[in-house]
Amino acid sequence: MRSSLVFFVCKILSAFIGIFKKNSGNVVGKIATKMDSNIIKYFKINCPVIAVTATNGKTTTNNIISYIIKNNGKKVVSNLEGNNMETGIVNTLLKNSTITGKVKADYITLEVDESYVPRVFRKIRLDTLIVLDFFRDQLDRNGEEEALILKIEEFLKTYQNNLILNRDDPNVARLGRANPENKNVFYFSVEKYKYATSEEKEAGEGKFCPFDKTRLDYEYYQYSHIGKYECKKCGFGTEKIFLQIKNVDVKNGSFEAEDERYETLANSIYAIYNFAAVLAFSKIYNFDAKDSLKNFRLDNGRCESVTINNTETLINLAKNPTGANVSLRILNEDEEEKELLFVLNDNIADGFDVSWIWDINFDIKNVTRVITAGTRAYDIAIRIKTSGFDKDKIEAYLDLNEAVKALYKTKIKKYVIANYTALQPTRKAIFQVK
Ligand SMILES: [Zn+2]
Repeated sequence: MRSSLVFFVCKILSAFIGIFKKNSGNVVGKIATKMDSNIIKYFKINCPVIAVTATNGKTTTNNIISYIIKNNGKKVVSNLEGNNMETGIVNTLLKNSTITGKVKADYITLEVDESYVPRVFRKIRLDTLIVLDFFRDQLDRNGEEEALILKIEEFLKTYQNNLILNRDDPNVARLGRANPENKNVFYFSVEKYKYATSEEKEAGEGKFCPFDKTRLDYEYYQYSHIGKYECKKCGFGTEKIFLQIKNVDVKNGSFEAEDERYETLANSIYAIYNFAAVLAFSKIYNFDAKDSLKNFRLDNGRCESVTINNTETLINLAKNPTGANVSLRILNEDEEEKELLFVLNDNIADGFDVSWIWDINFDIKNVTRVITAGTRAYDIAIRIKTSGFDKDKIEAYLDLNEAVKALYKTKIKKYVIANYTALQPTRKAIFQVK
């Protein structure tokens, strides 16, 4: 169908849907893609397009970038709600375009699902691609992680524009060699922080050099397989760093980069890596990020800190072992006494296979009680018990509201971890506690 007709119909449609329903998800994007599977190609885009992809952290990073652009007085279009597949991106662009498909923006920043990067950006322009990390995630949807990386690598072979990569993740840094002709590869890195270890303690991937299969020499691990490594044979891991974060203080939320001291509300090494990517972006585009980083609040269950019933509560999403390990790492770095609620579902969007919980490092400290909930409340309870945690201190509830009620029987500080479909119901249940 003629693209102009699709734009016309869908703009009218979205106006109608907008009248009846505030949150229509990506319904119009789905309809538009159904009418013309290549509709995304026909948007008229005359501004830089920035994309963020990763297993973990893409929503946060994309949201901060969008926030920074806005704070610098520019109009930005972004899929902030995390509709990160092709239909979601079409939906976002439709919402912000004229009836002829001209996108009204100074910048477009998109969070993009890893498997959709080649698919989407073979059809529309891409000026900067940011890749944060690759972990094992939802294997039954994405297939092997290696296959995913190979797909992106293939796409990058002919890509000439900005490529911002995490040098501390070998799965990501390898993408820098995909196109030897590309002079616009920028690596970011975070200097060793207080809780880095010399042994890998969490679910790990990528221990071998992808170019010659030599075992990578690790000096330290920040978390999971992220850290300082080197291939003694080919020098992989020693690429020149474009943006380096130093003197990380997760406890007080501060770090240094480019001779500047930054303050943040975030308290995890995981967030610091997101900031490193954000600062590399800001450096390339010449944006001032300092105030934005200071004021940006992570919410919506991404390291969200709230006070419920006079009890400090930290809520974090975890949809794979690394996400969970990061949350538990934050918990362990906090020396106060605390209680943990872990909510695990196995709905379609979570992936039916919950075996990933066996890759979580449950070596938890100063936790006096664990409560589990979700459709897989018992699986996660057994997993925690198997790690050596006292079984008399574990309570499992299939009913989420009951679990939350039990959680707030005490005034001890709470840490809450929930997987994908469990997150919003858990937040809702928590916010209802009086
Ligand atoms: Zn090598």
